[in-house]
Amino acid sequence: MVIGILALQGAVSEHVNMLKRCNVQTKLINKPSDLHGIKGIVIPGGESTTIHKLLVREKLFEPLKKLVQHNFPVFGTCAGLVLLAQSDALNGLDGEVKRNGFGRQRESFESLIEVADFTKPFPGVFIRAPYLEKVGTDVKTLATLADGRIVAAKQNNVLVTAFHPELTKDIRFHKLFVKQIVSNSNIVSK
Ligand code: GLN
Repeated sequence: MVIGILALQGAVSEHVNMLKRCNVQTKLINKPSDLHGIKGIVIPGGESTTIHKLLVREKLFEPLKKLVQHNFPVFGTCAGLVLLAQSDALNGLDGEVKRNGFGRQRESFESLIEVADFTKPFPGVFIRAPYLEKVGTDVKTLATLADGRIVAAKQNNVLVTAFHPELTKDIRFHKLFVKQIVSNSNIVSK
């Protein structure tokens, strides 16, 4: 199985390493034809406005949006979450996103996060991170901070974290994404 990683900007190689540790092949996605043959795609952290502009420039925006909206598995971290939640971007997750939601004082921080279905807390690395203020009824919240900010969620094919699992040694979110793809393809082939 090959999983694509959008490679226009941001933390790309870190996701490659994590997915390799999950025993899946990866492919860097820079142009529309790269989308062929992949079973899922990661949208990394970086700068969401820049990634959005580059998606348009490289003619990847429309094909990617179409995939996202047709139940194609996608995992967005940080800026990836922003792009997936913004209705004028990929519009793959029903939620209101607050960009740079932790203000200047807490631009970057680490915090142990309780995540639904994980037995041990996850090391959350937040870098100018967004959070979700509100999510729709179809969205499953996977992690919330003590003050109620939603920092990990899932809606059908779309998995998002406000933090950067790829900057840790903990592969549980990447494994979750791979598992989601495998169970999806089982449903399709049945
Ligand atoms: N603040 C960035 C944005 O809105 C995201 C930061 C990140 O991906 N680490 O694009």
